[in-house]
Amino acid sequence: MNERLLIVEDEEKLARLLADYLKAAGFDVQRLSDGRGVVEWVRQQGPALILLDLMLPGRDGLEICREIRAFSRVPIIMTTARVEEIDRLLGLELGADDYICKPYSPREVVARVKAVLRRTVPPPPATRGSLRLDPDSLRVSAGGQELELTAVEFALLQTLYAAPGRIFSRDRLMDRIYLDHRVVSDRTIDSHVKKLRRKLAELAPGRDLVHSVYGVGYRYEERDPADPDE
Ligand code: CA
Repeated sequence: MNERLLIVEDEEKLARLLADYLKAAGFDVQRLSDGRGVVEWVRQQGPALILLDLMLPGRDGLEICREIRAFSRVPIIMTTARVEEIDRLLGLELGADDYICKPYSPREVVARVKAVLRRTVPPPPATRGSLRLDPDSLRVSAGGQELELTAVEFALLQTLYAAPGRIFSRDRLMDRIYLDHRVVSDRTIDSHVKKLRRKLAELAPGRDLVHSVYGVGYRYEERDPADPDE
C-alpha cells in the first residue's frame, strides 16, 4: 500500500509539480492549498507525512504545525520561501522534522521526504515487547488494557521501546522529544519519565518496564516478574 502524503501549498504550479514527483516516487499524494481545514483533514486522514508551507491563505503554517503536534507525531516538513525564516523556525521548536527552503528542486524534496520517513517510521513491533504503541492516537496497550499518553510521554516510550535494553541519556531523550534545550533541564525529562512510569504501572501492574540507570539515563526492559535479578 502506498504511503499517503499531504502537500499544503498555495502555489498551484509548485504543488502540482511536487505532487507529480512524489507520485512518481510511489507515494499517494493529496493537496490542500488553504490553511483552513488542514488540521481537521490530518485528524481524519492520518497522512504518513506532511509538507507544510509556512505562508498560506487562511492560516499560517506555524499555527497549523503546533496544532497538529498537540495530537500527532506525524512527520512534518516545513517549506518556506525565506531562508532567514528557517533560523527563526528552528528557534521556535515547533516539532517539525525538517525544513526546506524555496526555491527547491522537487528531486531534493523527494529525497528529504524519504529520509524523514526512514528516520521516523516506527520500528516493527519487537517480538519480545508486550506493548502496542499507536503513534496516531498516542495510545499504548497491553493485555487488552489501553491508555493515552501525552505527546512527550509517547515519544519517550517509543524511543526506549524501540531499543530494549539500550540506555538512553537524558540528552538523547531530549533530542528525541524536540523540547527546547534552553528551557529544559534534566529534571523535566525525569518528571516526564516519572509520569510515564506511573501510567505504565496502571497498564501493566507489577511490571517495571522503564528503568532508571543511576547517573546515566533510562532504558526499557521487560523482565519476568518472577525474575529476582533487579
Ligand atoms: Ca505560500
